[in-house]
Amino acid sequence: KFNTNVGQHILKNPGVAEAIVAKSFLKPSDTVLEVGPGTGNLTVRILEKAKKVIAVELDPRMAAEVTKRVQGKPEQKRLEVLLGDVIKMETLPPFDVCISNTPYQISSPLVFKLLSLPNPPRVSVLMFQREFALRLTARPGDSLYCRLSVNAQFWAKITHIMKVGKNNFKPPPQVESSVVRIEPKMGSERPGVSWDEWDGMLRVCFVRRGRTMRASWLGSREVLAMCERNYRVWCAMNSIPLDDTPISDDAADDEMEVGSAPAQAANEEEWGGISDEDDDTPAFFKELNSKSHPASKTPSKKKKTRVAELVREKIRKVLEDVTELADKRAGKCDENDFLRLLSAFNEEGLHFS
Ligand code: SAM
Repeated sequence: KFNTNVGQHILKNPGVAEAIVAKSFLKPSDTVLEVGPGTGNLTVRILEKAKKVIAVELDPRMAAEVTKRVQGKPEQKRLEVLLGDVIKMETLPPFDVCISNTPYQISSPLVFKLLSLPNPPRVSVLMFQREFALRLTARPGDSLYCRLSVNAQFWAKITHIMKVGKNNFKPPPQVESSVVRIEPKMGSERPGVSWDEWDGMLRVCFVRRGRTMRASWLGSREVLAMCERNYRVWCAMNSIPLDDTPISDDAADDEMEVGSAPAQAANEEEWGGISDEDDDTPAFFKELNSKSHPASKTPSKKKKTRVAELVREKIRKVLEDVTELADKRAGKCDENDFLRLLSAFNEEGLHFS
């Protein structure tokens, strides 16, 4: 009856459902977004405490179940069921709180979506696989520390609320779960950097979290090309002239030596070679994430220009002279390191969105 391919593990322990709703600190005036209401075990409890529930459900059979559950009851008017994939919905109606026994396949894109909304919910209480919950709260140097950890903790306060064993679900999933609360930083606490800029930079840093910053930034043809493209846009916007004189083939070939992939591989072993495989990663970064990424291949014959040389020198200066982070691995860098890095890049006219 249940489709586990889309994460249908129904919460059968009423105590856990009660606790999730209690830990959301709902106000009677709140509109709640529930992702994946399933048969409505959480939905009916949320409706007892909040003004309205907007429930987004992928499976039409489940959408019908939850609708039937309140049919003919006073709550019916306070439940809106939207059929579809919450991740693909370009706009969501406004809501104050998000509650979800999350379909685990969408954990990462859901967190990124909630955190990057122009008006993020006051609080989100979400059930995740235990390991995903631990990634959210991991600290620099921890084995699970990744781009998700940095982003989540940069934009929000994350609290691990409770562990939930697999037997609380029907059918039981293969792994244990945890409930976490995500409270976005508001007002003066909210970091004064752009989401896209910050995340764009972190995507490069965390292509492999065990890779040094030097290798991530200077050892990949794709990253250098992306930085050059962005730098050209920035110069055009600021009316800064560019020197597009080609440089000789020999000089261009020499430049690909730094942090080349084979030299890097040995170091990555000790880090388990784990990459930050987030489902929201666009194709360009997926390519960077692949084991044999193009930096390890023969450089193409395309002619380099002075602009490329200038951008490479700017990156080198930021990493070696300004921030002194060149030899540090992303997995060991803290929020302050990343903030210094972004500010130094921006100072050089290098942007990531
Ligand atoms: N809330 C119910 C409960 O706690 O018993 C069901 C939770 S079940 C873990 C996840 C639900 O999310 C399923 O009903 C599934 O059909 C739905 N779902 C899966 N992927 C989804 C998506 N991308 N957007 C919205 N709903 C989704």
